[in-house]
Amino acid sequence: MVTITADVVVVGAGVIGSSTALELARAGFRVVVVDRLGGPGQGSTSASSAVVRFNYSTFPGVAAAWEARHCWESWPDHLGFVDRAGMARFWRTGMVFLDVDAAPKERVVPLFDRAGIPYETWDASLLAERIPGLDVGRFWPPKRLDDDGFWADPTEQLGALWTPDAGWVDDPTLAAVNLADAAGHAGARFVYDSQVTAVRRTGGRVAGVALANGEQVDAPIVVNAAGPWSSAFNQMAGVGDDFAITTRPMRQEVHFVAAPPNFNHGDRPGPVIADLDLGTYLRGAPGNGLYVGGTEPECDPMQWLDDPDEANLRPTVALFDAQVTRAARRFPNLSVPARPSGIAGVYDVSTDWTPLYDRTSLDGFYVAIGTSGNQFKNAPVAGRFMAAIVAAVENGHDHDSHPVQYRGEHTGLTVDLGAFSRRRTVNADSTGTVIG
Ligand SMILES: Cc1cc2nc3c(=O)[nH]c(=O)nc-3n(C[C@H](O)[C@H](O)[C@H](O)COP(=O)(O)OP(=O)(O)OC[C@H]3O[C@@H](n4cnc5c(N)ncnc54)[C@H](O)[C@@H]3O)c2cc1C
Repeated sequence: MVTITADVVVVGAGVIGSSTALELARAGFRVVVVDRLGGPGQGSTSASSAVVRFNYSTFPGVAAAWEARHCWESWPDHLGFVDRAGMARFWRTGMVFLDVDAAPKERVVPLFDRAGIPYETWDASLLAERIPGLDVGRFWPPKRLDDDGFWADPTEQLGALWTPDAGWVDDPTLAAVNLADAAGHAGARFVYDSQVTAVRRTGGRVAGVALANGEQVDAPIVVNAAGPWSSAFNQMAGVGDDFAITTRPMRQEVHFVAAPPNFNHGDRPGPVIADLDLGTYLRGAPGNGLYVGGTEPECDPMQWLDDPDEANLRPTVALFDAQVTRAARRFPNLSVPARPSGIAGVYDVSTDWTPLYDRTSLDGFYVAIGTSGNQFKNAPVAGRFMAAIVAAVENGHDHDSHPVQYRGEHTGLTVDLGAFSRRRTVNADSTGTVIG
């Protein structure tokens, strides 16, 4: 039997597992990453809209996103090299977060002030002036297209919170490739087309994993970075008894259409628009495209899955019509094509839409999961969080009682990693949506 020996095996070469591998390798661990697919970022990462924003419901969420944004901005420095595969690029387009009671700006503005994040508050007339073509009407609550109320004229108007430093990364799979290649430079080894089928234990501690092809990896540390497959992998490891927060796969669609006139300006794409008022988010794309995603409006049933592999990865006519027509309500010049285009992907949703970056009750078994459709942006710091937690716990630190405090290299902000504990109190301020 072939046995690979390492200090750490990371299960999953998505953007989170690849970043974790990079930071653990930099910290001196011998790292092996195993993925059942053929390369980095081919799981849920490949479907990501890759929006980089800072609106979260907690200070650790805001601070993590602000720190990570600086990593995207200085991507070659973050990686420590220029990848011959090409480099993912961060586009600073700014973000317009339309006013909505579910995520009031009164709650997030103090967090932005504390983190030092630049922002402007816009009233309806400034919003109309800054984003030509946008209807500033308040349509709340989001409705189905067959609800007559959907077409009713709005009686009130919305303002917005503008963050000029937000944007998106143009190629999420390439970003994962960059992180994996950087990890390879730092000494990590990647094993693809290999399904992990069992977690091995010895003397009450994790001892490595077994692969479907009969091979095994011996390692005293295992990191679950299995994305939407995370809960299945936790079950395989026999962990979960002390989790106050659980994770569950959910299908999602993102649609792709031509942007309304004057939204993108040549190679200056328009801003990200977070529109919980209508239940959508939008972002531009090079070549005058527009991505339209959803924000889990109550009128649309959530598409929970028992097994992520069962997800239909093609867009459906019904959801395409719903999401793009909502976007067209906001931008009346947007055309709704007859034929759906876009993709479907799977979120790994946690109880409060906040991730788990933590140890578990099984010594040596760690989790970087529950990314809830909102952690692509945080991948560069998620790897650093995991490396800090692993190093501290393996050195005898009691992270459960005294959570590791992570200080951001770019922002100097301290992130209390207890915010991402499996045993935390459910975040009552969470929007219960992808916003977190
Ligand atoms: C449609 C969509 C839109 C999104 N938009 C945004 C956004 O705009 N901004 C943002 O910040 N985030 C966004 N996200 C979320 C973000 O993309 C994810 O949080 C992130 O990509 C998750 O990365 P991951 O590495 O945890 O998971 P994945 O990329 O899914 O990687 C997990 C890997 O584990 C492997 N694996 C699983 N089980 C096993 C096993 N037993 N053996 C071997 N390998 C295994 C899989 O093959 C997979 O490659 C979006 C997500 C989706 C689906």
